[in-house]
Amino acid sequence: MRFACLIVGLFTFFQCQCQWRENTSPSYLELIGYLQKIDKEHKEIKLFNMGNSDFGLPIYLLVINAEKDSLKTFQKARKSTTILINNAIHPGEPDGINASLIWIDEWIRQGKPNKTKNGESLPVIAFIPAYNIGGMMNRSSTSRANQNGPEEYGFRGNARNLDLNRDFIKMDSENAFTFARIFHSLDPDVFVDNHVSNGADYQYTLTYISSMKERMSPALQQLTYSNCIPNLTKNLASKGIDLFPYVELKNQTPEGGIVAFNDLPRYAMGYSSLFHALSFTVETHMLKPFPERVEATYQFLDELISWTTNHSLEIESSRSEAIQWSMNQKEFRYNYTLSDDEDSILFKGFESTNPIDSTTGLKRLFYDRSKSYFKKVPYYQTHVSKSEVKIPSYFIIGSQEKEVIERLKMNQVMYQTITKDSTVEVNRYRIEKFKSLDKPYEGHFKHHSVQFEKFKVTQSLKKGDILIPTKQKAMFYLLSTLIPDAEDSYFSWNFFDSYLQQKEYFSSYVFIDQAKFILENNPKLKVEFDKRKNENEQFRNSEWEQLYFIYKNSEFFEKSFMILPVYSID
Ligand SMILES: [Zn+2]
Repeated sequence: MRFACLIVGLFTFFQCQCQWRENTSPSYLELIGYLQKIDKEHKEIKLFNMGNSDFGLPIYLLVINAEKDSLKTFQKARKSTTILINNAIHPGEPDGINASLIWIDEWIRQGKPNKTKNGESLPVIAFIPAYNIGGMMNRSSTSRANQNGPEEYGFRGNARNLDLNRDFIKMDSENAFTFARIFHSLDPDVFVDNHVSNGADYQYTLTYISSMKERMSPALQQLTYSNCIPNLTKNLASKGIDLFPYVELKNQTPEGGIVAFNDLPRYAMGYSSLFHALSFTVETHMLKPFPERVEATYQFLDELISWTTNHSLEIESSRSEAIQWSMNQKEFRYNYTLSDDEDSILFKGFESTNPIDSTTGLKRLFYDRSKSYFKKVPYYQTHVSKSEVKIPSYFIIGSQEKEVIERLKMNQVMYQTITKDSTVEVNRYRIEKFKSLDKPYEGHFKHHSVQFEKFKVTQSLKKGDILIPTKQKAMFYLLSTLIPDAEDSYFSWNFFDSYLQQKEYFSSYVFIDQAKFILENNPKLKVEFDKRKNENEQFRNSEWEQLYFIYKNSEFFEKSFMILPVYSID
């Protein structure tokens, strides 16, 4: 009997160590089944159903170093140092699922240590085992044409064919609402989103994206770039794994230059950076075999967890400093673009050539893996902001903007509801120019190249409108979404499109008599009108243009046209 137990024990041990290191990744149901079993067996590990997905199945959260119940566990997470690891936002890139399972099994095998030898406490470690449930359920072996394993995997689009890694501001998916619930229930200090790259060929298996340094507070920038990344790089190197920044190309090949990634708020890590979490995206290289990518992701997670354990005091203090720093800012800078400042970085690549291809008869790009190099390549890692605004003290949003207010609530924005009708001097925003995409991007004809005018007006506010102080933890989230021309503003994501359409017009044959009267009573407008008539032939020959000009500059023109329902107070 004892012998049989030993065999079963050995088998379990063998299975735990190996099953996630094969060229396969579990389906959603296999994954959740396994985690439910672990949750039953270990009181320090808890699996929570955190809410719905677009597919209809729940999104789970597995917490290591948990407490007795959910209330205590989430309290502990918010109070102490917490890491959140997100997997399978792109289910075709399931490396993080296997890596997380290996980490969890290994922790159990080591006796679930919650202190290091030096007495440092293990952080709360929370895994979203799989975020894109619809994509997890849509499995095949073909949707990642250039990827080396696993045998079967899920699809990038979710149940509504959304790329969830563009959805964190607009929140079209139910998944995004569940994510916001998870994120703010934990208030993670460190966040990791696991992916697999597309793009160039090179020697590295493991690359990472870190938050764009120009958007970070000095304290977090220092901790990330002078402490965390050098430590991870050194410790991973001692395990034989090179850690390298994500290879985003300036031109065709890495030799033409690598650029630092701009983690806009729409992305998972850009979103978590808004709330001053130390944020990383792991990108393993698509052409390396799945087990090798899983191992690299596992080692990254393991090192990041160790670093977090050993630096929890610095992390906590840098985060509070960052939040304080953000609230002390007078100006908000946004719309960052890459600068031409050229740096260089030592890079392990493959030489490339452009032979004629027999299929197309044209030159192709060919990376010669027999010719590796280690040399400096241009590195563009500086961004500059194109826009800057003075940070207002308050924003006000009309109560009718329920979709935006719902998103603010999910992001734990603090605000007051106006209890009686009142008047106040506010800034309003008039959209002067904008362009929209001519094909939908993630379900939106998104606006860009926005120009707006800010003007002061005495505004009546109605009961139910909301007054939002900007000095709060969610400050960068508020500014990034409510300033009309910010890259990921709610205006750009089409939340205020109804204000872009004129509702009333005039009949020319009636208005022409009023127009005469308007000009007689407004000499300044008459001068402008005559000048335009003299100078512009098209205007001179168009009754409609002339009358519309007078109409637009008269009291008859609607006051709400192109003016947003978001106001601010200096
Ligand atoms: Zn991805």
